[in-house]
Amino acid sequence: MNGRLTPWDDARIHVSSEALIRGISVFEGIKGYWSADAKTFSLLNLHDHYVRLCQSALMVHLPFQSDYAGFERACITLVESLLVPGKDLWLRPTLFALEGSWGLDTVTDLTITAYSQEMTRPQPLVAGISTWQRPSDASQPARIKSAANYLVSRNARIDGRRHGYGEMVLLNPAGRVAEGTGSAILIVRNGQVITPPASEGCLESITVKITERICSVLGTPFVVRPIDKTELYIADEICFAGTLLELAQVKQMEFRTIAVPGPVIQPITDAFWRAVRCEQSIPGINLTPAYTV
Ligand code: PMP
Repeated sequence: MNGRLTPWDDARIHVSSEALIRGISVFEGIKGYWSADAKTFSLLNLHDHYVRLCQSALMVHLPFQSDYAGFERACITLVESLLVPGKDLWLRPTLFALEGSWGLDTVTDLTITAYSQEMTRPQPLVAGISTWQRPSDASQPARIKSAANYLVSRNARIDGRRHGYGEMVLLNPAGRVAEGTGSAILIVRNGQVITPPASEGCLESITVKITERICSVLGTPFVVRPIDKTELYIADEICFAGTLLELAQVKQMEFRTIAVPGPVIQPITDAFWRAVRCEQSIPGINLTPAYTV
């Protein structure tokens, strides 16, 4: 925070900041993984996250000065101070609007927080379809990773929890599939991995981009096209994809049970796991070393 390592209890912002009164901030979620031999710790596709953060900042008119080298250094500094053996880390860089009003005289700060993560693979999920929608690009663009977008996600998760769902699918205003509350979505039909384009109302997911690269290595067809809601009921496999969730297969979509592990998705998740643990090199999966034992 403010370019310095800051103790958790001292990380404060003012109640009058636009970050608080209008929810003006953009952020990223970045995952760091220990290698399988526990010798190195690396950040996954860090540069992609930096680029998306810059793009989000631009789209909501938040000045962001840090170049990539400075951003990488800040992330590594935080890793060095918080990393413990046997736990991965999830980093959350957030660019807050601290001063200024309605875009005038805006002053921002990039604050990066980090959280320990278990080194376990995600469990299959029971999922539902939310009545809350991703708004259109002309009202609240899903392409911007802004805090404000997570108001809908939060409501959907609260509803879902009441029904015992671990993740919810958000539809777009046309009633087609957009994404999860904190993840992108992939379905499998007839051996093809299918995901909606960003114009359907979803974030441009880095995990989906990684999945596409894994598919090309495995020779699995990967298609980007709109997905109808009813396809969720007849898809052979369904999987949520995101930095934090990684690749989590769906074992039940509302009333319908789906066999897991899925024959198409499972080899993709295996390859993802081997790659992030430095056991297999896959083009498009880029690991920035942040710590070496
Ligand atoms: N959509 C939403 C709403 C998300 O919060 C996330 C997680 N960042 C994703 C999609 C997946 O994006 P990524 O794979 O880049 O983490």
